[in-house]
Amino acid sequence: MRKTLTSAALGLFLLSSSYAYAAPPSGPVFYGDAPDDTHPWAIHDRNRPQPVVVTPGTFSTAEQPGKPPSDAIILFDGTPESLAKWEADKNPPEATKWVVKTGAMECVPGSGYIRTKEKFGDCQLHVEWAAPAKVQGDSQGRGNSGVFLMGVEIQVLDNYNNPTYADGFASSIYSVNPPAVNALRPPGEYQTYDIVFRRPIYKDGKPVDPGYVTVFLNGVLVQDHTQIEGPTGHMGRAKPGAFPVAGPLKLQDHGNPVRYRNIWYRPLPPRAIEGGTNGPLTPEAATAKKKEIAADIRKDAATLKDAKNPLPEMLRLAESLVYEKDEATMKQVAEMAGQYVVAVKAVPADKLQDKKNEVKQVADAFKYLARWKVIDPAFAPKVEADKMIKEQGWDKK
Ligand code: MG
Repeated sequence: MRKTLTSAALGLFLLSSSYAYAAPPSGPVFYGDAPDDTHPWAIHDRNRPQPVVVTPGTFSTAEQPGKPPSDAIILFDGTPESLAKWEADKNPPEATKWVVKTGAMECVPGSGYIRTKEKFGDCQLHVEWAAPAKVQGDSQGRGNSGVFLMGVEIQVLDNYNNPTYADGFASSIYSVNPPAVNALRPPGEYQTYDIVFRRPIYKDGKPVDPGYVTVFLNGVLVQDHTQIEGPTGHMGRAKPGAFPVAGPLKLQDHGNPVRYRNIWYRPLPPRAIEGGTNGPLTPEAATAKKKEIAADIRKDAATLKDAKNPLPEMLRLAESLVYEKDEATMKQVAEMAGQYVVAVKAVPADKLQDKKNEVKQVADAFKYLARWKVIDPAFAPKVEADKMIKEQGWDKK
């Protein structure tokens, strides 16, 4: 794991999703294409961690906010208590003057932007907002606010029958990219933003990932992986540059009493370039991960140690070789496999049929290992197992 995972949010993600190593789920072993230089797992790899269970929430209705998913971090739930998670966007910080009314947080014009006390990075963000039902002003003057992530504004504006410049529409990346369509509901009704934010990543002053924003407005895709061009602003073109690892969520006071409800986020897993392990990875990162997987499998193999039945341990150790051709393990497997073959050969002819499936399992494992160049096709126990299968006619249907 690289050292870049310093933000509290990422830490929280890793904490919640990290798994204590356990025996893998049942499923075929020695099966799909083996791990390679940039992919630490095989295809259909049963050693790949199971997805963390999340209980989904419910959708909002006009009257009622929905329930967030079980792993969401709540930033505002309609209660006055949750307003305490926010402060005025001032330094030194002050309590916000925005008010909670009937389950919504309302901008008090002139009181300034607000921000979450919590800072976070890449996220899935859910925000619901409503422009004042009483229509006042036009263009940028009607129901204007904004959702700011690290200086990037996803515009909040009442554009229901209210034209304005395209790159300033509701759900535009302000001054950068208009929404694909205008899927707004009438003013006074709640609008839903579901946002996926991936901040730009710079290393040594150079961009390695420009960062992207995806937005669904009322369930309609309006920003499709739109590239971040830098913090947004009025009249000026955004300029690319390094972004922080984490920042607060800010909501804009643009002089209109816009209301917000049901605000939550889920931290996103790190990308491959920042230590994430879902490929394709760099060869260095893939090798490091494969080493870790192999070590975990060897640890698990040790729990299978059984003098009366050494086969499960041998097969599990052999499995680890798919990820790392470790010399000591290689030797151990060769020794155990050799002993296994000797033991099977000693089984009386009338009892040998009982060993059919087991021997075939061993032969299949070695066939896979030879196919992926983990062992030599001339590996003695492999040759012996293949020979026995042939002699017994176990290769016939
Ligand atoms: Mg705005």
